[in-house]
Amino acid sequence: MKEETFTNKIIKGIGVSSGIATGSVYLLERGKIPVIKRNIKAEQIEKEVNRFRNAVRDAIGELNAIKQSIPDDEVRRHSFIIDAHILMLQDDFFSRDVVNVIRKDNVNAEWALDMVVSKFMSSFEAIEDLYFRERAQDLKYIYDRLMRILVKGKSPTVETKKKAERGIIVAHDLSPADTIQLNLNKISGFVTDVGGRTSHTSIVARALEIPAVVGAGNISSLVKNNDRIIVDGDEGIVIINPTPEVHKEYISKQLRLKNIKKEFLRIAKLKSETKDGFMVKVGANIELIAEMDIVKKYGAQGIGLYRTEYIYLSRKTLPTEIEHFHIYKKLAENKNLDYVTIRTLDIGGDKFVSHIEMAKEINPAMGLRAIRLCIKETDLFKSQLKGILRASAYGPLKILIPMVSGIEEIKKTKEILKECMEELEHKKIDFNKNIELGIMIEVPSTCMISDILAKEVDFFSIGTNDLIQYTLAIDRINEYVSYLYEPLHPAVLRMIKHVVEAAHANGIEVAMCGEMAGEALYIPVLIGLRLDELSMNPYSVPKAKKIVRGLEHAYCKDLLYELFRQDSHKKSETLLRKEMARLFPDDFIKCIEE
Ligand code: PEP
Ligand code: MG
Repeated sequence: MKEETFTNKIIKGIGVSSGIATGSVYLLERGKIPVIKRNIKAEQIEKEVNRFRNAVRDAIGELNAIKQSIPDDEVRRHSFIIDAHILMLQDDFFSRDVVNVIRKDNVNAEWALDMVVSKFMSSFEAIEDLYFRERAQDLKYIYDRLMRILVKGKSPTVETKKKAERGIIVAHDLSPADTIQLNLNKISGFVTDVGGRTSHTSIVARALEIPAVVGAGNISSLVKNNDRIIVDGDEGIVIINPTPEVHKEYISKQLRLKNIKKEFLRIAKLKSETKDGFMVKVGANIELIAEMDIVKKYGAQGIGLYRTEYIYLSRKTLPTEIEHFHIYKKLAENKNLDYVTIRTLDIGGDKFVSHIEMAKEINPAMGLRAIRLCIKETDLFKSQLKGILRASAYGPLKILIPMVSGIEEIKKTKEILKECMEELEHKKIDFNKNIELGIMIEVPSTCMISDILAKEVDFFSIGTNDLIQYTLAIDRINEYVSYLYEPLHPAVLRMIKHVVEAAHANGIEVAMCGEMAGEALYIPVLIGLRLDELSMNPYSVPKAKKIVRGLEHAYCKDLLYELFRQDSHKKSETLLRKEMARLFPDDFIKCIEE
């Protein structure tokens, strides 16, 4: 297969980091290590256990060495993912289980490691939620490193392999540690066979702004070293050995994108204010604190949504109050952020964490998740709340509660929060006594009673991903009904309007942090509705600011009036697209059906 030379072969993958890279392939081949079972005698058991423990120690040593070798401060800031892997190794994460298998089954360390990790991996892979499934990848990186040390004594790194000069790495998979090294080696892009948008490697690629495509099937077995290749991280396309015409086309696209980016970075610094002076905050949604730097670079004023689920993943024990504290303190201390909204654990149902016991549910989206689970598992909830409170002494943190459906959950949350405050006071630990408490508006019931709830909390944040799912009865992960996802559905627009009016009548602010907020098309609608903050993927911030700055609030109000006269999503969308194409001809294509 490898001997075949392709011309202009297009491979479709998932574009996870924006930009275009062109260059020659540097193939990173790391064949799978065959794992052989050896039965060992009772007197060899301790020797085998020690061999495994030494491998863990060496793996930690290797990861520390990678960290130390990073000369660039900018890159070093992202090395916390390597720290996460070091912590997993130190945490006895699978060490204890592996040692138990060696002792119980009288087998060699490699076999025991393989058994334990395979078990973990299959439970991870059985999870429907993509984000959670990808966390299995962290286990896999640790497994690979340990296995190579056990088998060969050391782990090859991207750097110790051939010196790669501005090539494009093609590999079956890359660990976040590899990805950080790629940047050091001035690699211009990478492509992997496996992976998804939320895998750590993809997150690091975005943070380092290296164009990347993952999930590109069997690309590592299709290319050869020095093949010419194009990586389009926006379209998720890889072209092997492009013709000169195609190459030229991509070079001009690369130039165009560079200019757009330059323009975006200029806009990023500007205020997000309409021509007639209406201010709307533009915030960022993040999942990892590694994303903190790009948040500022792309001009977000603060963090409108920090999804804390990742903290609970890839570990066997629950995070402690102190662990929570250290994570949130890093965000609180970042002087570039005017505010940081920390959403408490939104897990349960189809989102799985091995160390939280949960019943199997037939309808998990409506099951024991988020605040419902936190109220039931008070200890779990309290360690997160106390971690946030402690960190609130260091900067402008806010607490956001997901999946609220009625006032009782707010009252109960406040009770628990009060207990947490009393416990910290008792220990003389500093915290912000006036920390703002807000709720996600994502269950239709909360829209209908938003006037009641607004008296109970300091702010609202509308989660349109779930709100649309529950309002229109469309499972958000079911591709067969995704065509029904209609942010301009009259019911959705009326709900948002109702929530904003209720909030403002009670003197509190309303943010929107669902995907709808980051779609440039909907911005005039959201301005017309008088949302106070739009929070989105950090890369969408400059475009959002550009649109805000090109609009007038008075115009948005009139447009909204027109939209409310339409009886369907379709009619509203046609009207909106036509208007946006008129106002922003460079950003919106004129609607065909008029
Ligand atoms: C939402 O539901 O819109 C939201 C922002 O939360 P998540 O996507 O994490 O459920
Ligand atoms: Mg939600």
